[in-house]
Amino acid sequence: MKLKLSEKLSSINPSVTLTISSKAKELKANGVDVISFAPGEPDFNTPVNIQDEAISSIREGKIKYTAASGLLELKKAICNKLEKDNNIKYEPKNILISNGAKQCLYNSLCAILNEGDEVIVVAPYWVSYYELIMLAGGKPVIIETKEEDDFKPTVEILKKTITNKTKAMIINTPNNPTGTVYSKEELIALGDIAIENDMFIVADEIYEKLIYDGAKHFSIASIDKYKDNTLVINGMSKAYSMTGWRLGYVAAHEDIIKLINNFQSHTTSNACTISQYASIEALNGDQSKIEEMRKAFDERRKYMVDAINDIKGLSCRKPLGAFYVMVNIKDMKGTSIRGKKIESSLDFCNVLLDEAKVATIPGSAFGTDDYIRMSYATSYDNIKNGIQRIKELVEE
Ligand code: PMP
Ligand code: GLU
Repeated sequence: MKLKLSEKLSSINPSVTLTISSKAKELKANGVDVISFAPGEPDFNTPVNIQDEAISSIREGKIKYTAASGLLELKKAICNKLEKDNNIKYEPKNILISNGAKQCLYNSLCAILNEGDEVIVVAPYWVSYYELIMLAGGKPVIIETKEEDDFKPTVEILKKTITNKTKAMIINTPNNPTGTVYSKEELIALGDIAIENDMFIVADEIYEKLIYDGAKHFSIASIDKYKDNTLVINGMSKAYSMTGWRLGYVAAHEDIIKLINNFQSHTTSNACTISQYASIEALNGDQSKIEEMRKAFDERRKYMVDAINDIKGLSCRKPLGAFYVMVNIKDMKGTSIRGKKIESSLDFCNVLLDEAKVATIPGSAFGTDDYIRMSYATSYDNIKNGIQRIKELVEE
């Protein structure tokens, strides 16, 4: 029988970041000595106070369905966090809790887009934005940026990209994969254009706590005039090393939250109840572990940037946020390594994996083929040994 499947889902590519990360894990489990710079997740365990809260919630039977939009107590903790850290005043009716920031993004796009609406995405962009927009019926419109501009779009280019179909723009600061952090002034410039053109801003702030060299995170929704058309996306994955717990939230105008609530009540219901209780502790409890993890990332960041710039043919800028380095591979294109031609970022990543047993993510996954992404959310020893392997191979 010929299976007549959905055209929409058949056009969706799998997440390259998740695919390569799990391929590297599988090779390792099969005894191959792979060093992986692929995963976008902290390598630390979740802090013990959060673990303990999850265990208590199971023992105390706090394991039932909650409201589809999440526990009121967690929404209050999120409101406190948003006021304290981001200077944005929301009430619980403005908050919706989902299975990670990823589902918050999907829910949000479904709530604001009609078929064919355009959403502006700045490249290099996080791999899932493109497909999430497509799944929600929208059309991703990509703005290219340059490394020498810190991968930030100019106001002129943004204005030229807007059409009468433009509905929203995704702003991701600190950025995955570039580590770029937007300043308050830059965000205001983008916010003004959004207001003039009646656009939503989807502000993905999931890396806000991972920021270095004195850079400051600024939330565009903290300025009143941008608040109603901004959807703030955040979650527990990166700051509290809780990727597998699947807990994220969106804060927005209550009319948007109402639509998402209805949608979520039919699709997934509430996010995992145990993770919700644990997240209350994460947000209200001791925050010192965040700084410990941030400091560790910072040390690795500095080491990785210097070590990469020490390899002939590769270069990178020092990112100000998140835990990724975008490595410029332009000089590698057109060369051959051990008889294998390098014509794309994927070719280069394949050679690194096959010949040096090092896993990285091709820039093509992020809409730019002249780079590969390396995550420094792995141990110092892995970074040192992995980069040494790359150096030996590339300079061979
Ligand atoms: N946004 C960005 C920019 C990310 O890198 C990630 C990481 N997967 C997410 C959203 C989603 O995070 P999660 O679903 O784990 O909360
Ligand atoms: N955000 C992480 C990354 O970019 C995790 C993987 C994913 O969700 O795509 O690698």
